[in-house]
Amino acid sequence: MKKTFFTPGPAALYPTVHQHLIEGLTQQLFSQSHRSAAYQSIHAKAVSHVKELLGVPENFWVFFFSSATEIWERLGQNCLDQHSLHFVNGSFSRRFFDIVTALGHAPEKVETPWGESVNFDPQSLPHSPDLINFTLNETSTGVSLSLEEIYRFRAKYPEALVTLDMVSIAPYAAVDWSQVDAGYFSVQKCFGLPAGLGVLIAGPKALERAAAIQASGRNVGSYHSFASLLKYAQKNQTPETPNISAVYLLGKVCEDMLSKGIEQIRAETREKADMLYDFFAQHPSYELFVKTPTDRSPTVIVVNTRDDNKALLSRLAAEGLIVGNGYGPMKGKQLRIANFPAVSLEDVRRLINLLMN
Ligand SMILES: *Cc1c(COP(=O)(O)O)cnc(C)c1O
Repeated sequence: MKKTFFTPGPAALYPTVHQHLIEGLTQQLFSQSHRSAAYQSIHAKAVSHVKELLGVPENFWVFFFSSATEIWERLGQNCLDQHSLHFVNGSFSRRFFDIVTALGHAPEKVETPWGESVNFDPQSLPHSPDLINFTLNETSTGVSLSLEEIYRFRAKYPEALVTLDMVSIAPYAAVDWSQVDAGYFSVQKCFGLPAGLGVLIAGPKALERAAAIQASGRNVGSYHSFASLLKYAQKNQTPETPNISAVYLLGKVCEDMLSKGIEQIRAETREKADMLYDFFAQHPSYELFVKTPTDRSPTVIVVNTRDDNKALLSRLAAEGLIVGNGYGPMKGKQLRIANFPAVSLEDVRRLINLLMN
């Protein structure tokens, strides 16, 4: 039976991936040297399609990593001078804080309970932060932040770099890149690609910071230091042998999303999210986890189940619908439903029909 994945990563593959992968194999693209003109063309296309889809300005760079987790470590090494500030309201926002701590920094965190937005008006901070991270869409809880609030907060710390974890909401989020210094995602969520590629979009202020930190003699890592990434990106290459098939598929899927139109993708995402939220709000066996409607994520819908979810997940799986479990401490008690571009309105209707009974 063909399965439909509503899991928030790895997730359902974008419908055109199968055909693009076969095409890449047929053309033997994945055996070519990563120093060849053929690879440079694949790389350049992926970069330009990502930038166009996300509305990224000319003077921002796109760097490739193995995952978003790696990007956290590289940001910690290359962009964090003294004090970072982390708004923690779930597992992923927490993880960046933990990684920076493991690197030997002493980051600050402003915590709020799971299922709530962040506190944009924290008590006075002991240090003025030089890097502020926002997790735009907390995949563990289904909470989305307001970009306007982020821009307002940033105005208080004009010197700080603002980094945006967009892993489970890009390309849906319409980011104003004049307000953000770096944004990042990995491809196995909303882009509907096989896992194994992290993408960082870094602006001039982030690159200047990285250059200053390196010039001060600090350890910024080796092959994936920003200087090394930049040197190769200027040639449409990567320092190491990259995940060529992933870079190729990213370019192709972004091209498909561009032909569909980002506004169309956003409208469909909202329509599917509304159907799911409306259904769960009126069904007595479920309770929406995120109480404030404006905090509810359009791309990851989280609901509490009345009973342990095991029987329900198995019943859905028997029908070919694979739904995400609660994350971490919420395992067994919640459904997490990915509403990514790869799932159709028809898929969502089928899921709702099965959940109705
Ligand atoms: C999945 C996820 C990550 C981690 O991505 P990896 O590719 O597994 O490193 C980070 N942040 C958020 C919000 C995520 O959903």
